[in-house]
Order: sequence, then C-alpha cells, then structure tokens
Amino acid sequence: MNQNIRVRFAPSPTGPLHIGGLRTALFNYLFAKKHGGSFILRIEDTDQTRYVPGAEEYIQESLEWCGLIPDEGPRQGGGFGPYRQSERKSLYRQYALRLVDAGHAYYAFDTPEELDKLRNDYDLRGETFVYDAGVRESLNNSLTMAPSQVEQLIESGTPYVIRFQFVPEKEIVMEDMVRGEVVVNSSTLDDKILFKSDGMPTYHLANVVDDNLMAITHVIRGEEWLPSLPLHISLYQAFDWEHLMPTFAHLPLIMKPTGKGKLSKRDGEKGGFPVFPLEWKDPVTTQVSPGYREEGYLPEACINLIALLGWNPGTEQELFTLEELIEGFQLEKVGKSGSRFDPEKSKWFNHQHIQMISDNDLSRAVKVEMESNGVTIDDAKIRLLIPIIKPRISFLHEIWDQSWFFFVAPDKYDEAVVNKRWKEETPEKMKLLGEALKSCEPFTVESVESVVKALIEDRQWGMGAIMNAWRLLLVGAAKGPGLFDLASFLGKEEVIDRMNNGIEKIVVNK
Ligand code: GLU
Repeated sequence: MNQNIRVRFAPSPTGPLHIGGLRTALFNYLFAKKHGGSFILRIEDTDQTRYVPGAEEYIQESLEWCGLIPDEGPRQGGGFGPYRQSERKSLYRQYALRLVDAGHAYYAFDTPEELDKLRNDYDLRGETFVYDAGVRESLNNSLTMAPSQVEQLIESGTPYVIRFQFVPEKEIVMEDMVRGEVVVNSSTLDDKILFKSDGMPTYHLANVVDDNLMAITHVIRGEEWLPSLPLHISLYQAFDWEHLMPTFAHLPLIMKPTGKGKLSKRDGEKGGFPVFPLEWKDPVTTQVSPGYREEGYLPEACINLIALLGWNPGTEQELFTLEELIEGFQLEKVGKSGSRFDPEKSKWFNHQHIQMISDNDLSRAVKVEMESNGVTIDDAKIRLLIPIIKPRISFLHEIWDQSWFFFVAPDKYDEAVVNKRWKEETPEKMKLLGEALKSCEPFTVESVESVVKALIEDRQWGMGAIMNAWRLLLVGAAKGPGLFDLASFLGKEEVIDRMNNGIEKIVVNK
C-alpha cells in the first residue's frame, strides 16, 4: 500500500463519544499506523443546532486516554487545517456554487411552510413527499425560473438552499471494503440539501469537500453512513474528483448484549455497564453517565475489547496490546455482521490486562491505594503483596478489598460463619494451633504450611474445619487470600495476637 495513507475520524460534537464512535476512531488509527499513514481528527460542527458544549473536549480527552493521538487535529494543528469545520465556514459556498454552475445543483426557494404543506398533502393521500427528479420541476427553484428571476431573488435576500440534482435512473455503483459492491438507482434518492439558508454547508457537502481538501485516502466510518454513500460518490463525480475518491469501509454495528438491535446508552443504564469511554455529565439534564475510565478500566483493556467488536484476527488470540493490534489489523478482516457487546467479557479483558501490568507499575497503584486508606507500606512488603493480590483483581479499585486483611485486624466476626464454623471444641483446637505456630521458625509460607499440616495430621483433625476456623480468626470472615501467604505476611506476633483476640471475642459473643 502506498505511503500516503490519510484517514480521518470526523465526529460531530453532539454529545459524548459512544464506544461505537471510539471503535471508528480506533480502526482509523490502527489502519493509519499499520501503513505508516496519518490519523486526522476533524470536528464536524456545522450543525449549530446540535452543538453540545464540552463534547469536543470530551472527544479529545477520550482519544488521549486511549492513546489514540491524532497526527493532525484541532489541538495538534497540521498542514491541512483548520480542523474544525466551523472555522472552515467561508470555504464551502464556492463549492456549492461550482456545482450549481456545472448543472449538478440548484437553488431552491421553497419555504419551510410550503414544504410542510406538501408533506401533509402527500400524507393525506397515503404517499410520502420526496424532493426529487419527479417533482423538482414543479417546485420553487432555479430549475423552473428564468436566470434573471433567480438573481433578483438572491439579491433581494430571499432565503434559499442549494440542493443536489441527481440524474434520474442512473445506477450508482459503490465499492465498499467491508460490504463489497453495492448498487443503488438514483431514482430512489432525494435531492439532498448541500447548503443551508443559514450560510452553512450540510454534513454531506462539508464532509466530501473536506475529505478532498485534506487528501483523505480511506473513509472508515460506521454503517449508519452507508445510505449517504450514493450521494457522496455522486458528489465526487460532480466535482470531477472521481480519480481522487477515497476508498470506503463501513463498519458493522455494535449490538446489544442480547444480540438484537444496536447498543444504546439505555442498555448501559439497564445492564449497569458503561458505554462511554469517560464519565459524561449532560450539560442540560446534568445526568451523569458512567465511563470506562471512572469504572476502573485500563485504557489498554478498553482498546482491546473494542478492537474485537467487528475485527476478527483470524486466530484464537484475544489479548492484544496496542502495538499488536497495529501489527495485526487488516480492514479485510472486519466482518459484515454486527458484533454483540458482552459486558462480562469486558471485565475479563480488564482482569487479563491487569495481569499484564509489570509488578513495578502495579506497586505504584498499590501504594496509592494503601495510602488513601491510611496504610503506609514499604516496598519490600509491597513486593510480597503483589503476587498474592494480582491474580485476584479485575479492577485497580479492588486492591484494597483484596488486601485490607494484611493491614487491619478484624474487630468483628461474620455471624453466619461463626454459627457454621465455630464449634464447641474449636477454641481449644485454635489454642493448640497457636502453640504450634509459636515454635514455627522461620515464619515463612512453607514452614507455616508444614507446621499447620503436621498438627492437623497428628491430631487427625479435619483440614477444612481447622482452616475455616483459623480464617475466621485472622480475617473475621470467610474470604481473603491463601492463609499461609497471609500468616507469613503478618508475621508470628500479629498472627498469634489475632488468634488470641478472636478466641476471646468469639467465645464471649456466643
Ligand atoms: N460527522 C459524522 C459523524 O458524526 C461523520 C461521518 C463520517 O465519518 O463521514 O459521525
């Protein structure tokens, strides 16, 4: 593939970035990096009515959090800027006029009221009004007027739009890298507005003009844009840019966990999982939607799980770093059918990526977590802790939940466990266990294990009963890490203290 691959992620700042949008950004990024090309961020903010404050910053921060840094964009700059369409406003009119001059577009002066009335009249007849080749010549536009009249209307400030003029009964052949060849007859299409009465271009005109001016080679975007493709291709033809037309790839939908229908914000609310990369507070309703970042996901896990929604590496491999994704990514391996989002699998990805964090990096997170819980811990102790807790956590915020037993002696004892596990003879047995441990030297995992096991065997006690009771004394509940690990971490003195304490308290409580 040639070296000048240029792709763009072109979101409209109308709200937070859904993971579907993030996937579009990711696939563009991977494709660009794989081929040594450029990944461009273009903000498509021409529709002022849909503009949401904070949405652009949200998009940029999401990309940064995931490590998908644009090579060119509003923050980075670049040789094809500006990268916000609102800042390119003055540029689009000339392109719309060029199409009018070449007979591919026309001025339309129909007022919103006239069009509403037409829609109503059609509705009453059980038909749908479509502004197309069949009706355009009976409407109020430059195709039905003398040029002098058109000129006069424009000069007197009469509002107008510019519409694309499809050639009727033409087969529009479209090549899509995911869908293959798609053919549409132009007679099924309406004369879309390219330029609005407020002086702004519509999405279609601005998008195609900018892709051309920014020398975009591949348009990789969501399937919801496939219906716009016939118009976009027709625009390339009308501008005489066919030889410069990018290659298109429309990505399949991300489906609900049930597999039926497109994944929505509501599914996240119902299922208790985030569908946005970062937390989002709606500026109007002030409703807060959870984000992957705030829920404790690692960006690496997020990228990994999203990459596999639609892209199939063709092997059994499921865990990928960003570098591995770049290496392995191929647009040809993006499937046609929608991929089901699985919230449980997302947690699994995070668990797996936590296992991939180096012990050094994890130590830092452990230290922070400990300090925020008022525990000061030296590096040697952290090193002991890491192999014990790492396999047990799926999220960094679970560190404390999986490690408080190492630092805080129980002051109460789970009643259900006491009732089930604390028998009449238990205190006596625990005292004997305490005695045996007193003479255990050194107090390592192995020596503690052999002392405990030897005592159990010697006395012909049941292993389960002893371990459950001992756990109750050390942790206060039926949870926590392996007891030999815990005991050796705590040290002999603390173990004996916790045991004596528990034997006393549990007896008193009974
Ligand atoms: N502005 C469009 C969006 O919000 C861009 C679609 C495209 O990539 O062409 O998704």
